[in-house]
Amino acid sequence: MKKIFVITAILLIANLLTYAQDGKALKVLISVDMEGITGVVNWEDVDREGKDYDLFRKIMTEETNAAIEGALDAGATEIIVRDAHSTARNILPDLLNPKARLIRDWSGEFKSMVEGIDKSFSAVIFIGYHAKAGTEDAVLEHTMSSKNITDISINGISLPEAGINALIVGYYDVPLVFLAGDSSICAQAKQLFGEIEIVAVKSGIGNAAINLHPAVSHEKIKEGVKKALLNINKYKPYKFKPPYKLVVTLKHEEVLEQRSEYPGVKRTGDWELTYENDDLIEVMKAMRHMF
Ligand SMILES: [Zn+2]
Repeated sequence: MKKIFVITAILLIANLLTYAQDGKALKVLISVDMEGITGVVNWEDVDREGKDYDLFRKIMTEETNAAIEGALDAGATEIIVRDAHSTARNILPDLLNPKARLIRDWSGEFKSMVEGIDKSFSAVIFIGYHAKAGTEDAVLEHTMSSKNITDISINGISLPEAGINALIVGYYDVPLVFLAGDSSICAQAKQLFGEIEIVAVKSGIGNAAINLHPAVSHEKIKEGVKKALLNINKYKPYKFKPPYKLVVTLKHEEVLEQRSEYPGVKRTGDWELTYENDDLIEVMKAMRHMF
């Protein structure tokens, strides 16, 4: 009994010492989208006007809580949740774990889905994420705007929203350590980031999807987040080498015409706009004008 207590105490102190390195506490940002939440299969499910929207915003909140619990189990000292879908007013504040603070609505800043990120964070977690536009057998796949955008690439690499957001957090030297969503975005995350903990909560079958039960998703997410944060040194911030070349492929002529007016943007193909800059923040600002 005594021996177990001593061993537990030593392990706890060792963990605390690890987190205290570089003077950083274990501060975690959780960015939550909705298309990749368990059970969601249709645009109606993620739209405020949809009949089942209230059910799925509750599951979205519970899935976020699972990530928070995993982070707390790993010793997280501060947790910020960023609601990152549509109005950014989906997560139910009263049902969210009180240990976390919630960012709602859009500031208009380029950080967008990872609003709040800065160098003080230790790790970032993505919940409810979805595959990039044009992915086969993916649930509600799109990149930023399903209406306007066919593809977004930076330095020749076609990116899902998870890739774009990982570059923004990477700019602040913070690693993305965990992602949950459908099996397609999980595969894309593995391909882009290599070292990342993933949980696939569903798999697309054309427009349909086979889903885990939400309770099973929550358990897997909690364990996955805990595992990732306990091995935080494994993960590297996602970065590209400057200069950055952004290529956005659009769907509509009038949108293309209008977006090409942004300073520095060049039309480089029938449906293609290109913007180049050495500063990643300028690239992200330009991208926001092309949705
Ligand atoms: Zn969304």
